[in-house]
Order: sequence, then structure tokens, then C-alpha cells
Amino acid sequence: MPGFELWGAEERKEVNDVLETGILMRYGFDGPRKGIWKSKELEEAICKTFGCRYAHLVSSGTAALTTALSALGIGAGDEVIMPSFTFVASFEAVLSVGAIPVLVDIDESLTLNPDAVRKAITQKTKCIMPVHMCGSMADLDALKTICKEHNLLLLEDACQSIGGTYKGKMLGSIGDAGTFSFDFVKTMTCAEGGVVMTNKEDVYIKCDGYSDHGHDHKGVDRGADLHPFIGYNFRISELHAAVGLAQIRKLDTFLSIQKKNHAQLKNILSTVPEISFRIIPDPGGDSCTFLSWFLPTEDITRAVVAALKEQGILAGNFYWYDNNWHYIRKWDHLKNSVTLNSLHPDLKQAVINNTNKNFVASDAIMGRCISTAISLLWTEEQIADKGNKMVATIKKVLAKQKETV
Ligand SMILES: *Cc1c(COP(=O)(O)O)cnc(C)c1O
Repeated sequence: MPGFELWGAEERKEVNDVLETGILMRYGFDGPRKGIWKSKELEEAICKTFGCRYAHLVSSGTAALTTALSALGIGAGDEVIMPSFTFVASFEAVLSVGAIPVLVDIDESLTLNPDAVRKAITQKTKCIMPVHMCGSMADLDALKTICKEHNLLLLEDACQSIGGTYKGKMLGSIGDAGTFSFDFVKTMTCAEGGVVMTNKEDVYIKCDGYSDHGHDHKGVDRGADLHPFIGYNFRISELHAAVGLAQIRKLDTFLSIQKKNHAQLKNILSTVPEISFRIIPDPGGDSCTFLSWFLPTEDITRAVVAALKEQGILAGNFYWYDNNWHYIRKWDHLKNSVTLNSLHPDLKQAVINNTNKNFVASDAIMGRCISTAISLLWTEEQIADKGNKMVATIKKVLAKQKETV
């Protein structure tokens, strides 16, 4: 997952270019910046690397989702279908534009179950927001078909799957818009940052304005800019963009190391017949930030998690089912619709209704799932050691389970 593991001279050089001029802002100051435009340069690199026509950087992945939703015209009363397994940012962004997050079940791809999506469509549905969790992707062909049938927008939350592909196209470049996060633990980082990618000029222009107080950015005099609509401030700084520029040049290296380490660990875990792996709609397109695997039952999985902890080898293994950030089960603040300021009563009620449904199908998957984060720094010996220790621990738990049955 983390590009920060390979921080080095390249990042320092790019940041230093900005420190030399002292122009830390992405807009204006054309003279003193001496031709240094890190944000623009990174946006161009993103378009080239990910095959989208337009890219607009913002201050975070969450801001990218909010900006994209706004630019797509999603707001009050609109329903956005999203998965029960994601990061909290996905529903935060939907709520931030006044829309209704409609959470639905996932399948063994750990992303939206297309049948569950179909069942959730109502007159109010405006957008399907798949989240390409843990490095791999949703079934985009199935979701695109549903979007076409019902005239819905497709917004890809690809924040966790930078560099993943689906049938030859980069994740994040396939929907009406897509987002990446460049926060500190993502595949490439800006420290904090995010991007909206789109092939639609009007969506891009709206993102560009919305994230900078509605400025139209048509002239060179910022003070004379017009404001065709009300915006917000989600600007990225030149310092952050500079870090990202160094990181994007290393992305191929990150991805090839991830894939190699992932394959080695998967081979080792595959020797346990009771372990199965996540379904990947396009197996070649996995960015391999995580290896996600299943055990036969929740009880066995809990026992394995406890045993890994006891052995001191739980680090880097995520049992999302008990985790407060990524799965509906522990989102009491959302289920109770706890906000600092008051939501419109209809929205509040809709949030409560949509999150207190039955998610047994998701529970049955998440209760059995462990994701192992793939480090860029592991040596072959370390992977072998880690994998063998994990296998020995898992086998011991499975043997004990058989005894007691
Ligand atoms: C990280 C993440 C985000 C938000 O990104 P930030 O840059 O941390 O705001 C959104 N969605 C998913 C799935 C993420 O993992």
C-alpha cells in the first residue's frame, strides 16, 4: 500500500524546488514562481499515467469525492448507492453534499454486489459509487450496465486502488468521474491530497472552480476572476503536489514490488486448503496493495486473529469486521446519524433507515475475511518467514477446531 516506505532524495528534490521560490500556492504569482508549477505538472502526469482526459488535484481523497459529487450535480434528496465495506470518507462525502448514502451488501469481491445494487435502486437514485477496496476492483461491466439501464452516474472511489486496472483501463478513469487519495498510507502519497479524474470537460471545469471558491480561473489576475457558482476551498498546496510528483514517477516500481510480494505470500497461504481468496473481477488488474483471504467460518477467523496476535504476527493483518473505520458493523455514529449540526430531518431519517438494515450477507463475508497489507520493504526471506509463521498458526487453529467438532 504505502509509497511513503520508499521516500527519498527524489521527493526532497521536488519539495526543495518549491522551498527555493517560496511560492507555496498553486495559483498565481507567475513571476516569482520562476516557472515552477508542481500541481499542474502532477495533473499532467496523472492524465498521462492513468489515461484520463482531465485531472484536478485537491486537498484530500475525501475532498475529491465531495468535489466530484458536486460537479456531477448530486445533492439534496439524491440517493447514492455505495458498499457496506469502505472507508468512512465515502459516506462523509455523500452527506457533505446533502445526498443520501444508500449502503448495500458486498460480495466476495469485497466490493458492491451488483444484484444488491439493482435491488436498492429507487426513483431517487442518482449515482452508483463503487469503492475499489484494498487494491482490487468492483465488477465495473455489471455496474456500467445497471447505470445505462437506469440512467445513473458512475463515480469510482478508487482511493485505495491507484494503479489497478479493469480490462485494460485504469481504475478511476472508467466512470463519469473517479477519485484517488494521496494521503500518507496510500499507494502513492502527497502527505495529504487527492484528485478527481474525468473524461468530461464540464465536470472538470466544475471541479476546478468548486475546489477554489468558485473561481473561474480564466485570467491571470486572481482578484478579477468571476464566480459562476458558489464553491469551497479544497486546494492542494505546491509542497504537497511536489511530493506527489516524485511519487508518481516511482509508481511503476511500487506496483511491481507489490505484485511480486503479493504473489509470493499468496503462494504460501495457498498451501492451506481451507483458505480461499477474494474474487477479482479482472485478476490481472489487482494493484496488490493487500492480499485478502477467507477462512471457512467467523469462529475460525476469530480464533486465527487471536492466535496471530498471541504469536506477535498480527501486525499488517486487518480483521475489518471488528475495525471501526471500514465496515458498517461498528459505525454507530452513522447508524444513529450523529452530527454536530442538524441535518435536514428527511436526510437524518433516510440515513438511519439506510444503515440499520440487515447486512447479513456482508457480515457472512467480512466475518471470515483477513487482509494482509503488502509492504514494499519486505525481502523474499522476510515474506517466506512471515508466510510460514502465518500458515503454521492457521493450521494449528484448524487442527484444534477439528478436534472439538
Ligand atoms: C483513504 C480513502 C479515502 C479518503 O482519502 P483521504 O485522502 O484520507 O481523505 C476515501 N475512500 C477510500 C476508500 C479511502 O481508502
